[in-house]
Amino acid sequence: MTIPSLSIEKRDPVGLVVDDDPVMRMLIRQVLERDGLVVHEAADGRQALESFPALAPDIVLLDVMMPEMDGFAACAALRALPQGSRTPVLMLTGLDDLESINKAFEAGATDFISKPISWGVLGHRVRYMLRAAHTLDALSRSQETLAEAQKIACLGSWEWDLLRGHFGWSEEALRILGLKAGEGSGLDGYRQRADPAEQAATRAQIDGLVHEGGELDLFNRLCLADGSVRHVHLRGVHRGSAPVRVLSGTIQDVTERKRAEEQIRYLAYYDGLTSLPNRQFFLEQLQRTLVLARRHERQLAVLSLDIDQFKRINDTLGHQVGDELLQAISHRLIDSVRGGDEVARAEPGIDGHIARLGGDEFSLLLVELGHFHDAAKVAHRLLEMLRAPFRVGDQEIFVTASIGISLFPSDGDSPDVLMRNADTAMHYAKEQGRANYQFYGRTMNSRALEKLSMEAQLRRALDRNELTVHYQPKVEAKTGSVVGVEALVRWKHPELGVVGPSQFIPIAEEIGLIVPIGEWVLEQACRQVRAWQSRGYANLGMAVNIAGPHFRQPKLLRSVGDALRRLEIPAHCLELEVTESMLMENLDATQITLRRLKEMGVRLAMDDFGTGYSSLAYLKRFPLDTLKIDRTFLKDAPDDAGDAALISAIIAMAHSLNLTVVAEGVEYEKQLDFLRDRGCDLIQGYLVSRPSAPEDLDELLHRQALVRTA
Ligand code: C2E
Ligand code: MG
Ligand code: MG
Repeated sequence: MTIPSLSIEKRDPVGLVVDDDPVMRMLIRQVLERDGLVVHEAADGRQALESFPALAPDIVLLDVMMPEMDGFAACAALRALPQGSRTPVLMLTGLDDLESINKAFEAGATDFISKPISWGVLGHRVRYMLRAAHTLDALSRSQETLAEAQKIACLGSWEWDLLRGHFGWSEEALRILGLKAGEGSGLDGYRQRADPAEQAATRAQIDGLVHEGGELDLFNRLCLADGSVRHVHLRGVHRGSAPVRVLSGTIQDVTERKRAEEQIRYLAYYDGLTSLPNRQFFLEQLQRTLVLARRHERQLAVLSLDIDQFKRINDTLGHQVGDELLQAISHRLIDSVRGGDEVARAEPGIDGHIARLGGDEFSLLLVELGHFHDAAKVAHRLLEMLRAPFRVGDQEIFVTASIGISLFPSDGDSPDVLMRNADTAMHYAKEQGRANYQFYGRTMNSRALEKLSMEAQLRRALDRNELTVHYQPKVEAKTGSVVGVEALVRWKHPELGVVGPSQFIPIAEEIGLIVPIGEWVLEQACRQVRAWQSRGYANLGMAVNIAGPHFRQPKLLRSVGDALRRLEIPAHCLELEVTESMLMENLDATQITLRRLKEMGVRLAMDDFGTGYSSLAYLKRFPLDTLKIDRTFLKDAPDDAGDAALISAIIAMAHSLNLTVVAEGVEYEKQLDFLRDRGCDLIQGYLVSRPSAPEDLDELLHRQALVRTA
């Protein structure tokens, strides 16, 4: 492939000799040709003008005295041609003829040479004129290129000759400033166009440049004569050394850049989905508000609002619906805190700002709070307002939220601390059963500290053998025979005594310790059931609770398989207890794990049924063997007719799905009677035995184990 050349063919310089005397023309031709020029001739001015456009000569040598049209008229006419303005014209005048020399320059001649011609000088003069014309041409081309480049870069230039008092803006600078050539009065005129707020600083810098040799570097917002606004960057320096007093600089139109910066600022400070301010914006706003609140000794409140179980909405209805719901929620929140503000109407004087911190988390800032009760009122209203159903597409969605409140100055005096404490209070609200608000307070603070030290100690509990496993028997409702046990972990805390799993399992889940703890319990339980089986309770079942994070570990399948093989436990003797909420986390992956476990022959139980979604549809989807009715149902049964009816319904439904039903938390005979009557298969509860150390169960097993074969 050949690359096309951009260079233009170079031609030899062309000279046009205009003289009515053929001998003269010939002599001049000889001189010029010796210097490498291509020479054309014309016998008078008219001929010269005719041939000029096509020849485009680099120099014209023009005799003054000619018939038809003389040299002066020809020169003036040449200059009027579009191509003729810059071509050098050398006039051949009579000796001592001052008047014709003057006339020649007036007609536009570049130079003159007097007759009789000194041929040596003519050669020099022509060469010099060609070189000068060439330089001039290059200069004007470079000026054109510069002007073009300035236009593209929106960059103009200026020059200020202090000695001569001359100021000039370049063409592009004039365009930026909306001026015509000759308009505007230098830097002072510029300053007058600047934003009033910027005038003083602008004047100071210009004075500094002129009088103290400083530099000019200004960003200004100019209001132009036509009323439009333009952002510019003006720079200036001293040129050359003293005593030359020339200042020069640039002026750049940065309006577009400014707009882009504003766009970037928007992206950095606002949330794309809801157009609400984001965390960064909120933090900065809180920072500013705190300064004022401190100065005027005012209270303010930070509310942390989190939508309850939003993940479930995302998982079941999809992210698109989730996104639209978040938008709808933020509209409601905005309506409640801004402008014609419902909340403010109810609580006069409270002004609010709202931001989306990410996901389903929002933050509100309430300023000029009279009393902390006002924050409670706002929180209450927000909760009420969210209660009305949301319509997304053709879905009607009900949401609730949990809100945590921290107050300035009592709960902290920096944005970080206030936001963290509002967040802690929000989590506390979730723990309290969601759909409520909580203040961050001293008690909460100490709870958090407790939790912190608990974390550190729990990390050491495994290594220090502080964990232990207790077992609670499961017996047949009809016969009272023990068919299996459930492993329940305990923490023998050196100072606190026995700590129950409800107190430390959630922390273990949070700090990632649940997997090692779960693995350890699994191993202990398997060894224990092996020991009992070896002692003759051949088919005794062992139920082990599996937490969500543990269930999601591929390691679980390996550990289970390995324990069954190593300890030679029949797979059907091991039952894993899982909860509904855990299975809902990731339906597809859950299905696979459940199926694998099922293939291994392990039994699966749904624990705490009735506390979660309690969905029959899901029960059908999972390959379960057992359903454990949560003990909260049993608490008031059979006396509470509603609970009793529910339990009956659950038992019937479970049986229709071929599930074994276990009732948890059986404490009284009448509960047992009721359950037996309703066909419940197994029961578990203090009535039979509390969770106990294995050696304490020996007697019970000995008496009542159904499965004893030896
Ligand atoms: P769960 O699996 O539903 O276990 C039954 C809970 O009910 C046990 O509480 C048990 O002591 C209690 N309970 C049994 N019978 C009665 C009764 O008649 N009356 C009353 N009031 N309570 C009764 P525990 O041992 O405190 O365990 C609480 C929860 O902690 C368990 O609920 C289970 O979800 C979890 N958990 C226990 N051990 C482990 C474990 O090793 N791993 C995992 N991931 N979770 C465990
Ligand atoms: Mg359980
Ligand atoms: Mg349970």
